[in-house]
Amino acid sequence: MSDLRVPKLWREIPQHYRLEASKCLSCGRIYFPPKTICNNCKSKNLEKTALPRKGVIETFTIIRNAPSKYELYAPYAIAIVKLENDVKILAQITDCEPAKLQIGMPVEAVIRRLYDDGENGVIHYGFKFRPVF
Ligand SMILES: [Zn+2]
Repeated sequence: MSDLRVPKLWREIPQHYRLEASKCLSCGRIYFPPKTICNNCKSKNLEKTALPRKGVIETFTIIRNAPSKYELYAPYAIAIVKLENDVKILAQITDCEPAKLQIGMPVEAVIRRLYDDGENGVIHYGFKFRPVF
């Protein structure tokens, strides 16, 4: 595993950074990542909503042959996480040996480096989930 130093950008992200989704005000469906038009009822009447940061692993798969920008992390696990409000999101699991993951394991959202954009050197951040012990 290579040395993933914590860049300045990460330290500057506020503690209260939200796991932001959008909610359709017509039919109630929640989208993550946020959408501006509801797939279900075609309404454009959506508002930003914060998702709970905790949930459980509903199912997961281990990725061994990663796309090139994620090679650094392989093998890693991708899971469907069922959040406390029953919304399900697909996310990478971090801070845990993939072999130790279990269905039903409690997890929480954290901000992590996702990948470097090789062409312009931009480091992309996003949410991953880590087990809560
Ligand atoms: Zn809708």
